[in-house]
Amino acid sequence: MIHRRSLLTGAPALALGLSATGLLAAPAALTADTILKPREGRGPRIVVCGGGWGGMTAARYLRQEVPDAEVILLERNPFFWSCPMSNKWLINVVDTAFLTQDMLHPANKYGYTLIQCEIIGIERDRKIVRTSQGSVDYDFLILAGGIRNAYDVWFGDDKAAADYTRTHFPSAYIPSAEHVALKNKIHNFKGGTIVMTLPPPPHRCPPSPYERACVMAWHFKVNNIPAKILILDPKPMIAPIGAGYRAAFDELYPDIITHVPNARVRELDPYNKRIMTEAGDFDFDEAIIMPPHQASDMVFYADLIARDAEGRPTGWADMHPRLFHANADDSVYIVGDSMGTISPQFGHYPKSAHVANYIAKIVARNIGQRVRGQDVVAELPDNLCYMLVNGDPREAISVEFFYEIGPDGNVQQTQIDVDVRTPDLLEEDFVWIDGMFNDFLR
Ligand SMILES: Cc1cc2nc3c(=O)[nH]c(=O)nc-3n(C[C@H](O)[C@H](O)[C@H](O)COP(=O)(O)OP(=O)(O)OC[C@H]3O[C@@H](n4cnc5c(N)ncnc54)[C@H](O)[C@@H]3O)c2cc1C
Repeated sequence: MIHRRSLLTGAPALALGLSATGLLAAPAALTADTILKPREGRGPRIVVCGGGWGGMTAARYLRQEVPDAEVILLERNPFFWSCPMSNKWLINVVDTAFLTQDMLHPANKYGYTLIQCEIIGIERDRKIVRTSQGSVDYDFLILAGGIRNAYDVWFGDDKAAADYTRTHFPSAYIPSAEHVALKNKIHNFKGGTIVMTLPPPPHRCPPSPYERACVMAWHFKVNNIPAKILILDPKPMIAPIGAGYRAAFDELYPDIITHVPNARVRELDPYNKRIMTEAGDFDFDEAIIMPPHQASDMVFYADLIARDAEGRPTGWADMHPRLFHANADDSVYIVGDSMGTISPQFGHYPKSAHVANYIAKIVARNIGQRVRGQDVVAELPDNLCYMLVNGDPREAISVEFFYEIGPDGNVQQTQIDVDVRTPDLLEEDFVWIDGMFNDFLR
C-alpha cells in the first residue's frame, strides 16, 4: 500500500508540480516576451500555422524532406475534424469517430511538435508568430489556416448581427462545433423552408453545398418531413458537376430542392429571417448561411493579402503561383484554401483537401531543396472530389481536375465531370479518404 507521505517524499517534487516546500507551484503569467518553445537542434526551424489537411501534411513531410529541421505545428483545435465526409456524416453514412482523428499520434510518429494554441499575430520583420501561449520564432513559416467566414462583407462593423447569424444559422464549413449544431438542427427539423446561401466563388469545396442539399433532402424524404430547400446560388448555373446535380435534384428530390441561380445576397435580416438577393427576396424558417469566404485570419495578420488591379484587397494570399511562397517574403509559404490566384484561365485551384494535401507535399519538397542548396523544382497538383447525391441506394457523382503548363506559360486546367451517379463512386470516395488518412494521420 502506498501512503500519501511516502508518495510525496519518494517522488521528485518537480514531477508532481510541487515546489521544494511541498506547496503547489503557481503557473507563470503569460507576457509579451513569453517564449513558446526555445530552439532545439541546429537545423532550420519551420513553423506550420494551422493543423488541418494542409498543415498536418506539411508537418509530416517536412520531417521527411528536411530531417534535421525542427518542425512545430500550431493548431487551435484539440483534435482533427475532417470536413470531407462531414456531409455524409449528417445522415450517418459515417460516424463521429470516422471524422475525428487523434493529432498527437502523427506528431509523435513523425517527430514534430504539436502545440494547441490560438495564433494571434505574425511579425514578419522579426520572424515571429504570436500565439495565446507565447511567441515562437521561425526560419520558414507555412500558413495553412484554411478559410475565414467573412461576415463583415455583409454586416460591416455590426458584430452583433454577424454573431447572431453565425450562432443561429451556422454554415459548418470550418472544423468546429458548428457541424454538431447543424446535424442536430437537421434531425430536429419538423418542416418548412430552409435556405442555403452559397458563397460567391472562389470558396471552399465548390461542389459540397449541393451535396449537403442532397443529403438533407434525402433525410427529409425518407422521414416524410414536409421540407423545402432553397439553394441561393450567386452563380448563373450549378457548377461543378452541374448535369449530375441537376439530374439528382429533378429525379430524386423534385418537390424538395429548388436551385435559384444568380441569387447573390444583397442584404440579410437574420432576426426576421429574411434574405434579399439579386434573384428576389426570400423568407425562411431555417437557414444554412454561408457568408463569403476569404483566406484565414493569419494571412491578414502577416499582411500578405493580394490586391486587384484597382488596389482593393482580394481576400486571398498574394503568392507565387508555381512556388507557393508569398510574393513579398520567400520565407513564408501559403498552403491550402488560403492560397490566392494561380492562373488567368481558371483563377484559384479548387479549395479542396486533395489540393491542400498535394501542395503541402510540394512545399515540403521545395523547402528541402532550398535548405540543401539545390534548384527548386516547381510541381503541379491534381484534384478529385466525390459527392453523395442519393442515400438509398448510396450513389455518388464526381469531378476531376488536371493541370499542365499552357503555351503562354500559365497553368491550365482540364475539368472532367462524372455526372452519372453510381455506388462505385462512393466506394472510390472511401478508398480516397482511407489513403489520405494513411498519408498523414495514422
Ligand atoms: C462540407 C464539406 C465537404 C468537403 N468535402 C471535400 C471532399 O470530399 N474532398 C476534398 O478534397 N475536400 C473537401 N472539402 C474541402 C476541405 O475540407 C478543405 O479544402 C480543406 O480542409 C482545406 O485544408 P486547409 O489545410 O487549407 O484548411 P483546414 O483543413 O480547414 O485547416 C486549417 C486549420 O487551421 C486552424 N486555424 C485557423 N486559424 C487558426 C488560428 N488563428 N490559430 C490556430 N489555428 C488556426 C483551423 O482550426 C484548422 O484546423 C470539404 C469541405 C466541406 C466544408
